[in-house]
Amino acid sequence: MSNKSKRILVSNDDGYFSEGLQALVEAVSPLGEVWVVAPDREQSAASHAISLHRPLRIKEVRERWFAVDGTPADCAYLAINHLLKDDRPVLMVSGINHGANLAEDIMYSGTVAAAMEGALLGVPAIAFSLVARRNFDFAPAARFARSLVSSALSRPLPPRMLLNVNIPGGVEPEGYVITRQGRHSYGFEVVENEDPRGRKYYWIGGSDYQHEDIPGSDCNAVFRDKRVSVTPLHFELTDHGRLPDLSGWQVDGFNRHEPDGA
Ligand code: MN
Repeated sequence: MSNKSKRILVSNDDGYFSEGLQALVEAVSPLGEVWVVAPDREQSAASHAISLHRPLRIKEVRERWFAVDGTPADCAYLAINHLLKDDRPVLMVSGINHGANLAEDIMYSGTVAAAMEGALLGVPAIAFSLVARRNFDFAPAARFARSLVSSALSRPLPPRMLLNVNIPGGVEPEGYVITRQGRHSYGFEVVENEDPRGRKYYWIGGSDYQHEDIPGSDCNAVFRDKRVSVTPLHFELTDHGRLPDLSGWQVDGFNRHEPDGA
């Protein structure tokens, strides 16, 4: 199969019109046949929600470029299980997100969720995020994305592989680090105010950013070392380290059985 015939699916959570998506499309276009299936409006922090209780509409905005009135995960689902079902993409990429998806961001991220849905459906996937709050210069991130995707196509990733990539903003990164998920906080602020009709409203999501200094973490790679962070993610949320803590537990009035029915 020639490289050009390999289908690459592109999505994001910022919308089909966003600058970061455009940069990612331009980055991977020389590497395969690019299909864009992305939300028709900003869906940042949509997490992995899917729309089971309302109809979804797909609008073809131009050739191989579709806007969906749903979530990032809806886009991946519709692309892989419907639009491209007869010739599935060999790789899915999501982003480039306008902002970081580090540490606990991953739990809320629509960018990661789109990629995760792809990976769940058997298409290896990579989420790209530019760690910046303003002055988004996507060029260095796009260069890294092109190189990584090129490598991933020549030496294919396993079917359920999911990589979370964060590129530091405002610098030309000289290298990358394979990392693990770190820990951070935005300060948990709740701003209470009053709307023009005299009713209270609340604005959540703080701005007092701090990350823990965890060796080998995504945050350290990006903020301390100004390097690209590449974290492999999986869907298995079982906390294996906590299983022994539960070994002595009893719930009154109920028998405790061993797994698999013993
Ligand atoms: Mn976003």
